[in-house]
Amino acid sequence: MIVVMARGSTREQVNDVVARVRGLGLDAHLSEGEERTIVGVVGAPLPPTLDEMLEVHAGVEQVVRITKKYKLSGWDFHPQKTRIRVRDVVIGGDDLVIIAGPCSVEGEEQTVETARAVKAAGATMLRGGAYKPRTSPYEFRGMGRRGLEILARAREETGLPIITEVMTPADIAQVGDFADVFQIGARNAQNYLLLEEVAKAGKPVMLKRGLSMMLEEWLLAAEYVMAQGNPDVILCERGIRTFEPSTRNTLDVSSVPVIQGMSHLPVFVDPSHAAGKRALVPALALAGVAAGADGLMIEVHPSPDHALSDGAQSLTFPEFAALTPRIARVAGAVGRRLPVGEALAAV
Ligand code: PEP
Ligand code: MN
Repeated sequence: MIVVMARGSTREQVNDVVARVRGLGLDAHLSEGEERTIVGVVGAPLPPTLDEMLEVHAGVEQVVRITKKYKLSGWDFHPQKTRIRVRDVVIGGDDLVIIAGPCSVEGEEQTVETARAVKAAGATMLRGGAYKPRTSPYEFRGMGRRGLEILARAREETGLPIITEVMTPADIAQVGDFADVFQIGARNAQNYLLLEEVAKAGKPVMLKRGLSMMLEEWLLAAEYVMAQGNPDVILCERGIRTFEPSTRNTLDVSSVPVIQGMSHLPVFVDPSHAAGKRALVPALALAGVAAGADGLMIEVHPSPDHALSDGAQSLTFPEFAALTPRIARVAGAVGRRLPVGEALAAV
């Protein structure tokens, strides 16, 4: 249920409604827009007469029951697009955000060198896995804490904020000491206890789409984070499993506009894990931007043939540098900007 406060309602009136809701043992989430405030009421079961109870409060304009399952991530509760600030980077604004970096952190030189190269080509955030979910237990599973320290070093060198995956509640505190944004991988996208715990760390969470997740299930996973009082969720389409073996996954380009019609959360596209092959990454990246994505997450490695994970889909530095000006042009065509990319394209 949402309580739409009247234009010009006072802070006290909003607080009264919130206190009433919490007094009933329910949760209240505020969405403060430029024009008006909306109080989202979640909890089960909602008392049958709750509408009447809240309608009579001073400053309340309207009480509306939301019948959709996704409540906090949907437009009804939050009529403005969510913008998330990560250090100097704004996600979900006019500027396209490119996150780039290796699949796995493999060493200091590899990571810092990659951070410098992707920054010079227009990336504004650095990715890199220290805890890697691998399909086979016999493959490289990440450097762990040392990997996090290396990411922090690369941030110091370049100023790029870092995003890295957390796989288990036991690692959240440690990963949170280093990461600017937590990544929840496709394999953990419906690990609800992990989602609730990571939410409590109070940093933005990028939620990859699960291997076979329907869009509503994806938003319901986001609700697990948001219901803990953390509104800063970024969705990331990274391809889904289909019958088609010529790509690693099938990039569901349509998920971008469809989910944007359902939700105010920013949506990224990860062309690397969708493609599985480096040659396909540019086309999928451009398609994601053309479809309206708020950003891209792209794997880049100094020597992909020697990468310890996902080398086949990682771009070289020159390939990444050749791609960003093209991304900037497509971004411009759909009303977004990639500032550094534009500057580079003009050179
Ligand atoms: C990754 O980003 O390296 C990764 C493992 O992604 P996903 O969870 O989408 O497979
Ligand atoms: Mn990877």
